[in-house]
Amino acid sequence: MKAIVFEQHGGCEVLKYRDTPRPKAGPNDVVIKVKASACNFNDIWARRGLPGMKILLPHISGSDAAGTVVETGSEVRNVKVGDEVVVHCGISCRQCYYCTRGEEYFCPDFKIWGFQTGPLDGAHGEYCKVPAVNTLPKPPNLSFEEAATIPLVLVTVWRMLVSRAKIQAGDFVLIWGAAGGLGVMAIQIAKLFNARAIAVASADDKLELCKTLGAEFVLHRKKHDIFQEVRKITDGRRADIVFEHTGAETWPISMQCLKWGGTIVTCGATSGFDAHLDIRLLWNKQQNYLGSHLGNKGELIDAMRFVESGHIKPVVGQVLALKDLGKAQDLMETSTIAGKIAIVPPAA
Ligand SMILES: [Zn+2]
Repeated sequence: MKAIVFEQHGGCEVLKYRDTPRPKAGPNDVVIKVKASACNFNDIWARRGLPGMKILLPHISGSDAAGTVVETGSEVRNVKVGDEVVVHCGISCRQCYYCTRGEEYFCPDFKIWGFQTGPLDGAHGEYCKVPAVNTLPKPPNLSFEEAATIPLVLVTVWRMLVSRAKIQAGDFVLIWGAAGGLGVMAIQIAKLFNARAIAVASADDKLELCKTLGAEFVLHRKKHDIFQEVRKITDGRRADIVFEHTGAETWPISMQCLKWGGTIVTCGATSGFDAHLDIRLLWNKQQNYLGSHLGNKGELIDAMRFVESGHIKPVVGQVLALKDLGKAQDLMETSTIAGKIAIVPPAA
């Protein structure tokens, strides 16, 4: 089968479009004919290489896929050949203390599929293999391209805002990177809970998109003083929740923009890991700084109901052929595209 493979870390030039063996299903696995995959920042971290994290080489990236099941292992009962599925990318043992409590992301064996798994075990190929328990039915109202862009960002944002920050009606939610893959989900989940999204993005057309998705307020990252604007919007009270994933560049402003007793929830740090923390804010203002990492399959199932009902919509900024994955990663690294990029392998 064709896939995008890299054998060493580096820029997009290390990505090679080449033939690799088609994966085979183990007893508890399914093999999926990939109709579409989606790009995530994990793909870029894996390609660049991350200190302290082992990326198994040669590597096929990709933690989101939508397609048709073409092979099932001998022990698989929940999925059959021909089923149209999407993938939940959290791989865990399903038997340990944490897994049996629904806390699969704390499992000692926890891995994000297509990022920490391998060698040659991700979505950006013509076929992929995952444990059957990691599949969910593809929402029938979505195309394969749309469906592929949903699971990773949806489960991540659902856990951040619903399970961790416990979003409530009326909450002011400041959303950084609001036109990106995570941001477009955050706006829609805020709207779903009747919260008031304050969307921050760095281009006028992206701000328009944020409004269409339900953001009540939009702020231009480069033209507005974000702190002053948040104070004005909230009548001086500041945001109840700050949705963080950008890290070092925005963290100091996130702390400024947070109300007394408010919650910053974060799932990443695309602009850097080291940020200053004024501990006085923790005790004096009794603020909450919460970490969040992916989510469990149950959270994804809960969130998917709102995709099926049309309340949460995929935002596909571009569809590219599998061989153009490097171009897709370029577009992501330069924040050129709003929403998600779907990747389509050659038709069989
Ligand atoms: Zn476990």
